[in-house]
Amino acid sequence: MSEEPDEPLVRFETEGPVAWLTLNRPRYRNAQNSALLYALDDAFARFAADDELIVAVLGGAGDHFSAGHDLKSPGLDYEKSFDRRTMWWDHVGKAGADRTWAREEEIYLGMYRRWRAIPKPTIAVVQGACLAGALKLAWACDLIVAADDAYFADPLVLMGVNGVEAFKHPWECGIRFAKEMLFTGRPFSAQRAYELGMVNRVVPVADLHATAAELAADIARMPRLSLALAKSAVHAAEEAMGQRVAMDTALALHQIGHLQNELVNGSRTAGQGVDEIRTAMDPPVVPAES
Ligand code: ZN
Repeated sequence: MSEEPDEPLVRFETEGPVAWLTLNRPRYRNAQNSALLYALDDAFARFAADDELIVAVLGGAGDHFSAGHDLKSPGLDYEKSFDRRTMWWDHVGKAGADRTWAREEEIYLGMYRRWRAIPKPTIAVVQGACLAGALKLAWACDLIVAADDAYFADPLVLMGVNGVEAFKHPWECGIRFAKEMLFTGRPFSAQRAYELGMVNRVVPVADLHATAAELAADIARMPRLSLALAKSAVHAAEEAMGQRVAMDTALALHQIGHLQNELVNGSRTAGQGVDEIRTAMDPPVVPAES
């Protein structure tokens, strides 16, 4: 559902060879319900299919990129079926892993992989919160430009799972910091993300759009096919380092966490820290360190 009936959940605009995709639930800090993720998948598919478009820039309307998966907005649509994008069965009406694993393969890991595999460059522009499930969106993009007010966190260990479903932390942040961000769940700043190599640029909020536009224009002068070759070559290196198998294993471990919560607490998300999670996912959150 759209909270603003005349507004699309994801805006799609073009400027020459650049597509601007904007998450458009600012009232809920762009929290991701299923409708938003399917709308984003449609937008990426439109970008990929248009021969005139070379680069996509993904951002979020309002003060925050995204507060992660929707845990509490009036637009919660966990029980709704959508046209599926993977070969997994519909989770609606199922129980246990038959339900949770099927949904998370489809809407979290499956969509992450679809977007990462787009053979054209993508840039995430991140301001404010980029929490848990929001990392999946930023990490699916090839480059990340962060505003100096951006902050990142994956607090899902508090919820009883190993971390967000698209478990790319070790590749994005390195082994040592991946453990720290998971073990503490604490937010970290754009500057820290830059030092870790997780983002390409940190700029004042006011310069975010112009910086992304400049970067996109710089890329768009390259031939489309050789950009695809370069992107595929980097991805091949990641796969050679075992990324796909590691992420599949991490999602299976994540299911153990959800099932443990269901068995012990009666709900897949009802870990000991769910209230803390809901609070932590409700920006503004003051970063614990700079
Ligand atoms: Zn999950």
